Amino acid sequence: MMPEQPQPTLRLSVDQGALAANWRALDALSGTASAGAAVKAQCYGLGVDTCVPALRDAGAAHFFVAHWSEVEAVAAHVPASSISVLHGVMTAQEADYARATGAIPVINSVHQAKIWQENGGGLCDAMVDTGINRLGLSSQQLTEDIVQQLNVRTLMSHLACADEDSPMNAAQLAAFREASNAISHQSLSLANSAGIGLGQDYAFDLTRPGLSLYGGVPRPELAEHISQVAFPQAAIIQTRDISVGDSVGYNATFTADRAMRIGTVSLGYADGYLRSWAGVGELMYEDVRLPLLGKVSMDMVAVDLTNAVDLREGDWLSVPYLLHNAAQQSSLSQYELLTILGTRLKQA
Ligand SMILES: *Cc1c(COP(=O)(O)O)cnc(C)c1O
Repeated sequence: MMPEQPQPTLRLSVDQGALAANWRALDALSGTASAGAAVKAQCYGLGVDTCVPALRDAGAAHFFVAHWSEVEAVAAHVPASSISVLHGVMTAQEADYARATGAIPVINSVHQAKIWQENGGGLCDAMVDTGINRLGLSSQQLTEDIVQQLNVRTLMSHLACADEDSPMNAAQLAAFREASNAISHQSLSLANSAGIGLGQDYAFDLTRPGLSLYGGVPRPELAEHISQVAFPQAAIIQTRDISVGDSVGYNATFTADRAMRIGTVSLGYADGYLRSWAGVGELMYEDVRLPLLGKVSMDMVAVDLTNAVDLREGDWLSVPYLLHNAAQQSSLSQYELLTILGTRLKQA
């Protein structure tokens, strides 16, 4: 047997209370509609076992994943029938898996409708394309017999530009209303997180927030309702004093213009702290800012300890990760900032 592992030198703290509060805020903003929860990609990188129970206990009763491979982990916490699989069924094997697990496919094409019906059919969701041209039945295809025969629980569509003030939002809303007359269904769903910020016209019966559950703010209307959920932290694993003219890190991109104390921190691009942070990022010790020095390595970054010369190996630093600020600084999207967080952060 392997011995118990030592404590890691980096960790991701997920604030389940903030996650639950974000869901309740988005549910309230959805008006008479209920908020579901997009939990694909391991809850945007934050972990199914950490996030799904908190969302369920807050009141979420509809969950969205992209792949069949994601069903089992989510179904450990919620009824399979509350899970919609956004990529739908491409093969008979997937249709069999859907039926065996009880998770609900989102039918996206005439081909998918055939696969589903030929393999026993039953309750499904359906996606109608209203302009994003990604996945979904066209409005004409909704009238085809094989599609009309579907037993549709939730008819949904997806907004392309909800995080902008684009005329596409109103156009997609009108197209979705029109589509909702073309096929029978039990409920309607259009808005993602940003769509909730567009107001209750967009909410219908069920909203599908993802990003904002996990602390993202895609529209200013949501800012005051959403708090940070993901808090990456990493420990200093070495400190050193360098002299004028010494350089730090790969390609010697930082050169000291004075004697200074620096720290090497256990966090790198393999952990999702990408090289785009070089030159703009800083880590924090309590309220003290520790600017990055030089390039981000795979497993390490260097920080300037001038403002915290007493820090030692083993001291923990926090990574500023307020998503809308972090996105501006790093030029990564808020979605990317969450989903790239690496597995080594989650071993603690
Ligand atoms: C990912 C996804 C969502 C959630 O979107 P956010 O922008 O993260 O709120 C909603 N609906 C569909 C179809 C999705 O693919």
